Amino acid sequence: MALTGIEIFKLLPKTNCGECGVPTCLAFAMNLASGKADLSACPYVSDEAKEHLSEASAPPILPVTIGGGDRALKVGGETVMFRHEKRFENQPGIAILISDTMADSDVDARLEKCQTMSYERVGLTLSTELVAVKDESGDAGKFAALAKKVSAGSNCSLILMSENPDNLASALKECADRKPLLYAATKDNLDKVAELAKENSCPLAVKGSSVEELAELTEKLTAAGVKNLVIDSGSRTVRQAFQDQVIIRSAALNNKFRPLGFPTITFPAEMTDNPMKEAMIAAMFIAKYAGIIVLSDFLGESLFPLLVERLNIYTDPQRPLATTEGIYEINNPDDSSPLMVTSNFSLTYFIVSGEIENSKVPSWLYVKDTEGLSVMTSWAAGKFSADIIGPALKKSGVADKIKHQKLIIPGYIAAESGGLEEELPGWEILVGPREGAHIPAYLKTWKA
Ligand code: SF4
Repeated sequence: MALTGIEIFKLLPKTNCGECGVPTCLAFAMNLASGKADLSACPYVSDEAKEHLSEASAPPILPVTIGGGDRALKVGGETVMFRHEKRFENQPGIAILISDTMADSDVDARLEKCQTMSYERVGLTLSTELVAVKDESGDAGKFAALAKKVSAGSNCSLILMSENPDNLASALKECADRKPLLYAATKDNLDKVAELAKENSCPLAVKGSSVEELAELTEKLTAAGVKNLVIDSGSRTVRQAFQDQVIIRSAALNNKFRPLGFPTITFPAEMTDNPMKEAMIAAMFIAKYAGIIVLSDFLGESLFPLLVERLNIYTDPQRPLATTEGIYEINNPDDSSPLMVTSNFSLTYFIVSGEIENSKVPSWLYVKDTEGLSVMTSWAAGKFSADIIGPALKKSGVADKIKHQKLIIPGYIAAESGGLEEELPGWEILVGPREGAHIPAYLKTWKA
């Protein structure tokens, strides 16, 4: 059973030093109890208290790592029902299904997609993480051969799918070092599959025929010392699967019900034959509340929107995506090239730099740290005004890179031009366009 805030408080040092980020030990205890703080934030907890508190301080949905090395995937670790309450912690892994009844050419094509389908967006690379290798033939040799081929042909993390423990064991021999997720332990094979997971230190997926049965199975497994679990309620209709996701998340977070406190695995691939409907189901699971989503195939027209949706939902709403402050060279500028300034909100930076690039005009772009706020917002908040831009620009050293003294500011902060002329004596302040789309036409009129 999880401890209450008061029970946790009794084990804390009670010095109210505030080093954990909240003013009192009681406030920290309450945050720990609700899963909104990490015990490691208090440097003064005794070892004895740590032991007592380990359960209370673990997130209500336990984190699980699949695979190893650079491509290891961490799922779970969630602490809130709704993103705006704090943030979602670990984005769901997206898997492509490869079956041992598929033709070699189909397997090769899918492996190729796993390795190559990735997209650049606001300076980040969006890609998938998992391959689900499925035993459909029932032939242990075929399944093992496929596991070997996929393990050699992809650096993604692996899911081995078979309810036959002997077939799982054969496939696992070919890729045990990759620490795949074993799918799945059921009420019929529980002991054998659990033993396999334990012996090989692999995470284990558990499949029930209902949420209730699932909770019984996870209780048995945790009692047997198998705790690295991913759960599947077995539902394969959209309505029931959605309901199960919400029930599981709510039971784990709101009721602190440990038997359901694990990341989930979902199968849009098994809910429809229609690729677009499958993408819509996957989109639903990204929002509510899958840890892993297994797709029948990767199609560019649906995968890209899914990856962008995932990016948007799993960014921290309290921390805007930001670009590093500094001087950016675009299209190989020289000392007579124009100099523009903008804020460091990532989307602003990528729009502005993209439009400068499109213009083909060699340019300098000075990006000012505005704590990740856009031009308008940071200006309104007093973080992108003349008295801030002027000194920062002087300090940046950009003046040594150009022989003119002209600065192009965003049209939205035209009101700062007078102030900037005072901050930067001798400089001419030019008011550029308000919209990024107008930058190429504006730059083509540039004269040093
Ligand atoms: Fe209390 Fe520890 Fe927080 Fe200090 S850091 S206020 S001792 S919980």
